[in-house]
Amino acid sequence: MEIAVASGKGGTGKSFVAANIGYAISRERETVLVDCDVEEPNLHLFFPGIPSSVPVTTRLPVIDEDSCTLCGKCASFCRYGALTVTQSGVLFLKDLCHSCGGCEIVCPSGAISEEESVIGRVDTLRIPPHLTLISGILNVGEIKSPTVIKAAREAASGSPLVIYDAAPGVTCPVVETLSGCDVCILVTEPTPFGLHDLDLAVQLAALLGVPSGVVVNRSTPGADEALRFCERHELPVLLDIPFDREIARIHNRGGLLSQVDTAWADTFRDLFYRAEALSEGGL
Ligand code: SF4
Ligand code: SF4
Repeated sequence: MEIAVASGKGGTGKSFVAANIGYAISRERETVLVDCDVEEPNLHLFFPGIPSSVPVTTRLPVIDEDSCTLCGKCASFCRYGALTVTQSGVLFLKDLCHSCGGCEIVCPSGAISEEESVIGRVDTLRIPPHLTLISGILNVGEIKSPTVIKAAREAASGSPLVIYDAAPGVTCPVVETLSGCDVCILVTEPTPFGLHDLDLAVQLAALLGVPSGVVVNRSTPGADEALRFCERHELPVLLDIPFDREIARIHNRGGLLSQVDTAWADTFRDLFYRAEALSEGGL
C-alpha cells in the first residue's frame, strides 16, 4: 500500500499530516515514511536521530578534447540541448543533461565517456518499534529532484506500507512521487490560494489515475469554502483539522501531535483507514 500526502501549495501542513499518520499507524504495523520533498526535506525534524546515508548519483558525459574532431554528432543527437559544438570545442550544459548516455554511443571518435556525479543522498533512520524514516536530500545547486525521489522510493520498495510526503506544487517532483500510488491525501487550507492550488493538485492526481481525498487544515467555524469545493468536485473530506493554538504550539516546537495526544493519534489512525478504504473504492 502506497499513500502520497500532497498539496497544491506550500505551508498547508502536508508534512505535519504525513508525520502524524506515519507515527500513529506505526503503533500498529510496520510503516515506512518517505520524505520526497527533496529540496526542503523536514520530516527528520519530527524524528531526531542519526541516520545512515547512501549517496545518489547520476551519470554525466565527459568530453576528451584531444580525441574530439568537432563533428557535431553529439550535439545533433542531444534532444535536450545540453551539448553545443563550437569551433573551439564542445560546450556541455550540465543542468540540461538527462543522463541518457546517447552522446557517448553516437560519438564516432570515442571522445565521450561518462562519470558518476553525486547530486544528493538518501538517509534512513530506524525509529523503534515499527517506523522507518527515509529522507531524500538533493544537494544545494542541483536540479534533478526526480532522480533523488526515485532513489528514496527505491529504498522503500518492498515495504507493505509506505507513506510519501510529496513536494508542494504540481511539477515533476510531485508527478514522480504520486505515480503508482494507491491513494493521495491532499492537504489544503481554507483560503482562496489554498483552494486554487488544491484544484490543480486534484487535476494532477486524476491525470495520474490516483484516487484522492482531502484534509482541510486550520479550518475555522463558518469558513466552509473548502468543504463546498470538495462537495462540488465530489471529493471525500477525510479529515477537518480546526485552527487550534495548542496544535500550533506543539507543531512549532517540533513536537508530534499524535505522540503527545492519544485522541489525535486515534484521529490520524482513522485518517489512514479512511485513505485505505478510498484506495479500495470503499468511500
Ligand atoms: S547524456 Fe543524453 S542528455 Fe546528456 S548530454 Fe548526452 S545526449 Fe544529452
Ligand atoms: S560526437 Fe564526439 S567527436 Fe563529434 S563533436 Fe561530439 S565529442 Fe566531438
